[in-house]
Amino acid sequence: MLKFCKKCILNSAMPDVKIGQDGLCSYCSGEKHESWESNVILLEKKKDNFRKQFEIDLEKNRGKYKYDCVIGISGGKDSAYLLYYLAVEKKLKVLAVYIKDLFDGNQALENINVLKNKIPFDLKVISLTDKIYKKIYSQAINLLEQKSFTESVCPVCSRLKMSCILKEAAQNKVPFVFMGFVSGQVNKPDFEWEREIIENRSWVPDIFTGDKDDLLDVFWNPVKYSKPDLSIRIMYPLAILDYNSRDAAIKLFSFLGKKIKSPGCSLFSVLNDLDLDLIGYNTFLRKKAYWIRKGILKTNNIQRLVCFLSTLKFNPFRLYRKILSKGIEKKLNIDFTAILLKNKR
Ligand SMILES: [Zn+2]
Repeated sequence: MLKFCKKCILNSAMPDVKIGQDGLCSYCSGEKHESWESNVILLEKKKDNFRKQFEIDLEKNRGKYKYDCVIGISGGKDSAYLLYYLAVEKKLKVLAVYIKDLFDGNQALENINVLKNKIPFDLKVISLTDKIYKKIYSQAINLLEQKSFTESVCPVCSRLKMSCILKEAAQNKVPFVFMGFVSGQVNKPDFEWEREIIENRSWVPDIFTGDKDDLLDVFWNPVKYSKPDLSIRIMYPLAILDYNSRDAAIKLFSFLGKKIKSPGCSLFSVLNDLDLDLIGYNTFLRKKAYWIRKGILKTNNIQRLVCFLSTLKFNPFRLYRKILSKGIEKKLNIDFTAILLKNKR
């Protein structure tokens, strides 16, 4: 019989989830941990120290450069809140960078316009629509290096976007780059990137072989883009602040007078849906369940139902995503069904 966890959104139809006598799933009862969860727990333990040092470093650099920090914004509410926190509450001079990729609709830019009306910041929009970006995405999907679609493609996409943001910081000589990831999205025990990665490595993903000359220009490359006398740091402030997505949404709404609607990413929806066929579960819902477990997100029966429906091979969301995926296949000149068949184990 189908059972739902009384705390999060997981249910017994999912491959590795059992609901115990107490009504809790294997993850809420603490019996099981997701592979990435131990890093988040370690991060939580170090939070206080990180937070104190973060405040000190921010103050030390205030007003020293043209901008106090660069923020990567997605148009979603987490990065919108980070922007509000730093530009309004902390009164820092912020350059916000928005990367428009091949899969974005217009919601993100609509949200950014709402922010622009109330929050003081400079905005840079970078568009990733050239042929080279199509090549990067289609290769990442075709090669499918990790066990799931999302785990193979999302890191390449985020590395690509981080590269653009970092180049912008170097060009404007800004020492801090902040991203609006919350603790469940940070898969590392620190909230700051290792310096080694920023200062000594080209970011062209290993999966790309052959002629990489054009990629060396696209991805961050310290030899080419670093500025002398400037060491840039990349951090996730929301992961160490007492950030709660519900409270943040309320605060943002009362400040902006408008709701920040989720901009979504059509590629992400489609990849998650393909993962259901490839590995049997939707990786995003697992992370969502984690945030609910930690009290960062709230849940209700509708979300439980959505989670259950998404475990079914046939459901209305899937039909909608099939339509979305046709558009992406055409844009990138790829065939999801063939890639799925090749990799199904
Ligand atoms: Zn649970």
